[in-house]
Amino acid sequence: MAQAPAPNIYFGSRTDVGCQRERNEDSLIVSPPLFVVADGMGGHKAGDVASEVAVNTLSALAPTIPDVDLLGRAVESANHAVITEAQKAGREGMGTTMTACVIQGEKIAIAHVGDSRAYLLHSGKLQQLTRDHSWVADMVEQGHLTPEEARVHPSRSAITRALGSDPYMQPDLYEVTASEGDRLLLCSDGLTGMVDDGSIQAMLARVRDPQRCAAALVNEAIANGGADNITVIVVDITGTNAKAERRERRRSRMWMIVLMLALAGIIAGAAFAAYNWMQSSAYLIEENGKVVVYQGIPDSIPGIETHWLVRETDVNVDDLQPSAQTHIREGLVVDSLDDAEHLVSEYERQVKEDAAEKMARGKTVVSSSAASSSSSKSETAAKK
Ligand code: CA
Repeated sequence: MAQAPAPNIYFGSRTDVGCQRERNEDSLIVSPPLFVVADGMGGHKAGDVASEVAVNTLSALAPTIPDVDLLGRAVESANHAVITEAQKAGREGMGTTMTACVIQGEKIAIAHVGDSRAYLLHSGKLQQLTRDHSWVADMVEQGHLTPEEARVHPSRSAITRALGSDPYMQPDLYEVTASEGDRLLLCSDGLTGMVDDGSIQAMLARVRDPQRCAAALVNEAIANGGADNITVIVVDITGTNAKAERRERRRSRMWMIVLMLALAGIIAGAAFAAYNWMQSSAYLIEENGKVVVYQGIPDSIPGIETHWLVRETDVNVDDLQPSAQTHIREGLVVDSLDDAEHLVSEYERQVKEDAAEKMARGKTVVSSSAASSSSSKSETAAKK
């Protein structure tokens, strides 16, 4: 199973003694963002001590960001630690290679000494990122050997730079910007001596899970003879934190737009409802002493037609009940034109009734005075 203790870093690793060695002198670090392969050498137990001292020192001193200078200095410190250890009895001449990477998103810092390698699989193509510090690599560069001849050359293990001997040793430093979907491979020469680049490329491209891929590469080296210790680290480059943050920002921006659209929709809906209500409303108001009917609302809104005259009625505002007069003079808003017309009819009825009542009252007054006079007459008559 691939481990994933840090976000955006998926990796697998495997180390194996191989088929012909008694001890595994390779050491490795798989501790994101740090990945290291060290291939120790030296008699007796010295090889594994050298690689172990080197990785322990690096583990303590390596930067947590892909700063190639800081990583280089950590490798120099590891060199001094191995030199100090090599001064102890029985450990003379021990040394180790070191290929160290710090990965953050798509940025990779590499410090490299010896013939362990870093490769990058980019768009299905394998690129060797590091240059071997070995005699055969020099021969290939000078055109005396082909890469394939170098791979199987009897002197292929002779390295020209290592940790553990020269206090002024400096690692080669590389800053690499990979792409999402790329795959980083770190390995000791127990892999590259047994498996050619074409097969490594095919395996990296075919086996998706990084842990299975690391195991498959080691198994292939063993199947081809396993002459040396084999160590493989496969790291998938799955995109930068910045990229993830950008994605997150894009997502929240999108949500904000959706929210704003929803809000705008609600506001537009409310505005539409308000406009509809305004259009269907009606009101009664006094003009020239008469009650007139308007459609809309009495208030004015700039740029919007809020009301228009429907008709002038024959109802005199002065003839209405005092409370109705006040309402009409202020402008009496109703829900619809129908309601307005109902009200007008009601006013007409009231005015008619009031007039009839007034008239009736006038008659009553007249008839009662007639009655009283007649009664006084009758009284008179009675007195008579
Ligand atoms: Ca080796």
